[in-house]
Amino acid sequence: MIFINSLQFARQLDAQDPLKKFRELFYFPMIHGKEAIYFTGNSLGLQPKQLQEYVLNELEDWATYGVEGHFHARHPWFHYKEFLKDSVAKLLGAKSNEVVVMNSLTVNLHLLLVSFYRPSEKRFKIICEYDAFPSDLYAVQSQAKFHGLNPDDAIIYLKPRTGEYTLRTEDIIQAIEEAGDSLATVMLGAVNYYTGQYFDLEKITEAAHRSGATCGFNLAHATGNVLMKLHDWNVDYACFCSYKYLNAGPGSVAGIFVHEKHFVRLGRIPQFAGWWGNDPETRFKMTHTFEPAKTASAWALSNDPVLSMAALKSSLDIFDEAGIENLRMKSEMLTAYLEFVIEEVNRAAMQKKTLQNEPVHIITPKNKHERGCQLSLVFAERGKEVFNALAKQGVVTDWREPDVIRVAPVPLYNSFEDIFRFGEILKQQLMHEQP
Ligand SMILES: *Cc1c(COP(=O)(O)O)cnc(C)c1O
Repeated sequence: MIFINSLQFARQLDAQDPLKKFRELFYFPMIHGKEAIYFTGNSLGLQPKQLQEYVLNELEDWATYGVEGHFHARHPWFHYKEFLKDSVAKLLGAKSNEVVVMNSLTVNLHLLLVSFYRPSEKRFKIICEYDAFPSDLYAVQSQAKFHGLNPDDAIIYLKPRTGEYTLRTEDIIQAIEEAGDSLATVMLGAVNYYTGQYFDLEKITEAAHRSGATCGFNLAHATGNVLMKLHDWNVDYACFCSYKYLNAGPGSVAGIFVHEKHFVRLGRIPQFAGWWGNDPETRFKMTHTFEPAKTASAWALSNDPVLSMAALKSSLDIFDEAGIENLRMKSEMLTAYLEFVIEEVNRAAMQKKTLQNEPVHIITPKNKHERGCQLSLVFAERGKEVFNALAKQGVVTDWREPDVIRVAPVPLYNSFEDIFRFGEILKQQLMHEQP
């Protein structure tokens, strides 16, 4: 499609957008009395307007039924996670028995590593990104220590080539092959939080398996953003959170994926167990021996945090209605438009100020198969100032040290007009004469 950087064109795209009605289902923060241009759904998704009703229903049922709400609530709490797993499975490309909503993200990563990072004398290494989200690094490093290993020996860090920002698939595969039979597991963020790069999960998983290792991903920036087929790709394990693209609210309940091929070994896979992972048939016999459920629910520990899950349900119902494939189609176009608008701004600024280099460099891959909705921008100069100026004018982006502005147009609630307006404010900033 040929894009034009004009308000009229952006509005035309919005008018033709089959998903435009979904924007109305969310609350936008107000800045100086106007709706913000909100591009941080990758950090905290906006609140669905129906969320409060979903949570209030559970509070009402609790007031009405007390403990009997476990069976008599409109959505009986005893089974609450069952009401979520089909919707989550669609987002991950998983079977419903392969997902379970529980705990928070980093907790889940630890629980999965307990089961799938099983270092032996010979096979003890973990591959992860050097520029992974810090919590993931701390998790992996502390897991190595937990097994009595020195993290510096156990962890192989993947770094981009000199002068590059993102990792090449061929380099990841090569690192996996080089590690060979010393490799216990590969654990990457499926979409890197800093660069927005979406890795080739299928190829990476295949390579890990060829080396005899397990392979898992942190889907924090992938879930509700990109299309995945975790089951078909044979991924062993994955964890996700619900407060970024899934809009379930700050710190809301997270979840895991475990491939069903592992279920035959349940009972023999090392696990940290709790009563809610017990087979529901025998859970309330209150016996001394843990009998794992025959699904990913075997990893659950505790009874369900229903208020948080109700918040998540309010958002998943919206995803079900919109359809992740449709959202992804719009998302590719929104992000392509954002990229186009930034290039237009670059051109205008270079012309006006006779610059040799682009003032804004997009470090996210250009190929749509290697990115989700987010673009990460590095500024030749004054990055932080531009960020602050955007914020002052009602554009919510985020700044990530050392030098990136992340901009994430979300297909559920962002519009092409949002992007055009962002471009105009960015242009003002870059045309601004230097002191
Ligand atoms: C957001 C994010 C986290 C945050 O972890 P919490 O346990 O939810 O606080 C961890 N890892 C990655 C890759 C993330 O994107």
